[in-house]
Order: sequence, then structure tokens, then C-alpha cells
Amino acid sequence: MRRDPSCIFCKIAAGEIPAKKIFEDDEILAFHDIHPAAPVHFLMIPKDHLPSLADADESDAPVLGRLLALAGRLAREQGSADGFRTIVNTGRVGRQDVYHLHIHILGGPSPLPRMIAKE
Ligand code: AMP
Ligand code: ZN
Repeated sequence: MRRDPSCIFCKIAAGEIPAKKIFEDDEILAFHDIHPAAPVHFLMIPKDHLPSLADADESDAPVLGRLLALAGRLAREQGSADGFRTIVNTGRVGRQDVYHLHIHILGGPSPLPRMIAKE
């Protein structure tokens, strides 16, 4: 398991800083986004420190597949019964802020704005 000692999501995965966790197993963690942009907004991460989707290769396919495969169940459990939006901000151009790969899951009871733009 790779780990970056300065990475906030590695610290959350290790239980060193708190998060509102909604799912955890040996390789995946899901927790609420601290600044929710929708009624349901949580993040899904591999516990392994992979900085971004641009750094992924085919060896990462199993955990990336598991993350996507789990998203629907967790979204329903969190109150997004009729769909959700999946966002992976990647690198400078994608305006990624935290360099530990994470999938945003956004949803809620009503349709979201067509796009959520960051300022
Ligand atoms: P981005 O890297 O641009 O996809 O955004 C990082 C996301 O992580 C933002 O939506 C932040 O609100 C969220 N975030 C940053 N720190 C924490 C934290 N300690 N707990 C939960 N979410 C966080
Ligand atoms: Zn990390």
C-alpha cells in the first residue's frame, strides 16, 4: 500500500484525521465531502496513494472498477435514489485540489444543475 505522509486523504484513510465515513473495506474508503456541493456529496478513494487518474495504469483497474461498481449502492444508501453525478477532477487542467485520486458522487432527491462549475 503506497502512502504519502503529507497527503490529507492518506491521513483520513489511516484514521489520523477524522471524516464522516460511509463505507470502508481493506482497499476503499468513502466519506462525506467537507464542503458539500449537493444534498448528497461524498468522495470515494482507494486507500492506496495514487495521486490522480492521470497516474493510473492497468494495474489499478481492479480497484478503480470496484470504486465505480460500489457507487450506485452507496448513492442510494445516502439518499440519491434516482441517479447521481460522478466527477473525477484530474491534474492542473481538471482543477484537482487534493492529489489523492478521489471520485466525487453528487446527488440528492432532485435533478442537479446541468453542470457544477468551480469558480
Ligand atoms: P478536488 O481535488 O478538486 O476534486 O476537490 C477536493 C475535494 O475534497 C473538495 O470537494 C473538498 O471539499 C474535499 N475535502 C478536502 N479536505 C477534506 C476533508 N478533510 N474531508 C472531506 N473532504 C475534504
Ligand atoms: Zn494519499
